[in-house]
Amino acid sequence: MSDNLNLGDNLLVAKDISKNFGGIVAVQKVDFVIPRRSIISLIGPNGAGKTTFFNLITGIYGPSTGQIVFDGKPLGRLKPHEVTQRGIARTFQNIRLFSNMTALENVMVGEHARLKAGLFGAIFRPSRVTSEENNARQRALDLLTYVGLKGKGDEFAKNLSYGDQRRLEIARALGTDPKLLLLDEPTAGMNPNESASLTKLVDRLRNDLGLTVLLIEHDMKVVMEVSDRITVLNFGRKIAEGPPADIRANTEVIEAYLGKEYAKTVAEDKGKI
Ligand code: ATP
Repeated sequence: MSDNLNLGDNLLVAKDISKNFGGIVAVQKVDFVIPRRSIISLIGPNGAGKTTFFNLITGIYGPSTGQIVFDGKPLGRLKPHEVTQRGIARTFQNIRLFSNMTALENVMVGEHARLKAGLFGAIFRPSRVTSEENNARQRALDLLTYVGLKGKGDEFAKNLSYGDQRRLEIARALGTDPKLLLLDEPTAGMNPNESASLTKLVDRLRNDLGLTVLLIEHDMKVVMEVSDRITVLNFGRKIAEGPPADIRANTEVIEAYLGKEYAKTVAEDKGKI
């Protein structure tokens, strides 16, 4: 590990990260930090490298070059359950719930990463295990209430509305007790009311729970409202980074991603977004 990685109060520091797939350079020489208790958004056109970058900073892919430090320790290549144990949880662009399990059970699966009962405990169920289970159940119910799914614990995941399924994914991720929560297009497919209410939830995750959140999101209204800082990728390169007001006014970003229509809307709205 080189000495020039300045951790400061950053939960994650990525330095000079690149990722090649054969001849394709998906991510190219990106420096990136995530301060603790921040909400950071990653935006960019399709194929810009956002998902690859997500997979790199969760340790699912090893970088072709560069270094990543998470919570003070270098991040090697990790299996999904090891990522969870390190304190990183995520939701997916295409919802991945256990559709034939109840909402409560889905959250308890997330919590399972934290439970201590081993095989012996699971079979013989000493009182220690039963009380651990009861606590997990209560906590799962609390998490469902927190994300706005009070009273829906017994419903099958597949019967929940689309917006509620997205909330359930967040509750399940919270069940793993993460330090960093990655949300991959959490408002995709939502109507404007659902998006607005999810934006508030993301804000509360940081304000109430002290979580650090990294967001991939295409809905610019959500991104501009909720982010402390936005990083823009294009063809695997970081082309801009800064607070929403700077990104909104950045000519290169407008040309590469936001588009002239967006610039026009902003001008017409006089910065309402
Ligand atoms: P989108 O918004 O469409 O999800 P993205 O910004 O997440 O796009 P990536 O999915 O990271 O972009 O893709 C970046 C580039 O890397 C693309 O050219 C893609 O085809 C390529 N790529 C991504 N994953 C792989 C892989 N496993 N093997 C080969 N090429 C890949």
